[in-house]
Amino acid sequence: MERCDPHKVLKDKGIRATSARLALLEEVFRRDEVFSAADLHRTTAGAVDLATVYRFLNLLVDKGVARSLPGPLGERLFEKACVHNPLHPHFVCRRCGAVLCLEGLSQAGKEARSDLEKEGHFVEEIFLLLRGLCGDCREERS
Ligand SMILES: [Zn+2]
Ligand SMILES: [Zn+2]
Ligand SMILES: [Zn+2]
Repeated sequence: MERCDPHKVLKDKGIRATSARLALLEEVFRRDEVFSAADLHRTTAGAVDLATVYRFLNLLVDKGVARSLPGPLGERLFEKACVHNPLHPHFVCRRCGAVLCLEGLSQAGKEARSDLEKEGHFVEEIFLLLRGLCGDCREERS
C-alpha cells in the first residue's frame, strides 16, 4: 500500500500546510517505528525548532494522524496513526528503553473503546503497554 500523501492528509484534516509541516509529516509517514520529537527534530537539520516539532506532533495527535505513547522514562513517543499503522499495543523494555510494536492485538482496545462510547463516554487516547525486559537485557543479567 502506498504511503499517505502529506498534502492530502493536511487538507482533509483542515491543517494549514507549510513547507516545514509537509516535510515533517512526510517524515512521520516514512517511519514504521516509534520515534521521539527529538528524533524527528534531528531530520529537519535545524530548519524548525524543537518546540515547533512538538506543537505539530500534538496537533497531529489531536487530529488522529499520529498517536502518542509513554516511553520507558515517561517521555512521550509518537507514531503515525494512519491506515498503515492501526492501533496496537507496545512492549517497552524498562532497562534499555527498546519499544516494540505488537501487531494484531488491537481488538481488545477497540472493543473497550466502542463499549465505552456506547455508554456515552468519550475515549481520547488508548495506551496498551506491556513492560518488562527485552531478550538482550535478560541475557546480560543472567
Ligand atoms: Zn499511511
Ligand atoms: Zn532491553
Ligand atoms: Zn507502534
